[in-house]
Amino acid sequence: MTFRAMTGHRSLLALLARATALGSLPPSLIFSGPDGIGKRMAAVALAQALNCERPIPWPEDSGVSGCGECAACRRIVRGVHADVLFIEPADTGSIGIDQVREAIDRAAYRPFEGRKRVVIVDEADTLVQAAQNALLKTLEEPPAASVFVLVTARPDLLLPTVRSRCQQLRFGPLAPADVADVLMREHGMASEEARAAAAASDGSIGRAIDGGADEIVASREAAARLLQTAAASADPRRRLDGAKMLAGGASDRGDLARRLRAVSSLLRDLAVLLSRADDSALANADLKPQLQSLLRSFDDDRALRAFSAVDTALSALDRNASPKIVADWVALQI
Ligand SMILES: [Zn+2]
Repeated sequence: MTFRAMTGHRSLLALLARATALGSLPPSLIFSGPDGIGKRMAAVALAQALNCERPIPWPEDSGVSGCGECAACRRIVRGVHADVLFIEPADTGSIGIDQVREAIDRAAYRPFEGRKRVVIVDEADTLVQAAQNALLKTLEEPPAASVFVLVTARPDLLLPTVRSRCQQLRFGPLAPADVADVLMREHGMASEEARAAAAASDGSIGRAIDGGADEIVASREAAARLLQTAAASADPRRRLDGAKMLAGGASDRGDLARRLRAVSSLLRDLAVLLSRADDSALANADLKPQLQSLLRSFDDDRALRAFSAVDTALSALDRNASPKIVADWVALQI
């Protein structure tokens, strides 16, 4: 996907698009940031911008984006462009020295069909130490017309000598609205499903997809019901009914943990509404009417207490506490 078609990360992508247009792109780059937010996609988009046959001005007239349509752009996405090399962990889970040597050898020649040779090392933190050492000299003085992009969620695992030779761009989590947008547009999720999955995703498309949309929607419904019951009544028996709703049907610890995280996410949104911050900070913006009705019962103190109770409950679950006891306890605390 090209720079201009990508969702989120606008300022970083614009920076890359401008550097591409000006010919000022550093030749050794690290794209770091959480898993599943589009770092590899950004590296592919960079390779397209550098080699597109009909580059398009973006953003406005200050940079360039690949067109996404020409033969070069399409070959790059399919991984069959002669000048864009992908290095990925082998079956062993790591990237060996032979894989790196081969890429270095190929990078020494002039680009074959495009303008720039781009070497994308995905999950670069899995490079074995010898492979990282083999890369050092190339990263220090890359062959003319070559760009190396190391993509990693764990830049700290790279040797300091590798890090110091690269310009690092830190990609942050996506905004919930951006995650929901991608889930609907590219993964065919319905709106409610997409928003629920986005709220539980911590800004990672990968996590939103892995989470299992049905279970996420169910978790969020259970969480909202628990908060409504807690808001409506101080009667412990009613509260414990709320706990049953929270734990009911949760077949294991993981299910209950997911539901508790959904409670956390809703409480965080209550704090956003209480502080009258911008709505764009809401993870569950589609539930705003329900959240607003909870504001009558939750002031700052109560929201904070509830938030810390859920946090305590999650650690108790981690330490093997009984899910039923944890659910009961949370329901009485919030
Ligand atoms: Zn193109």
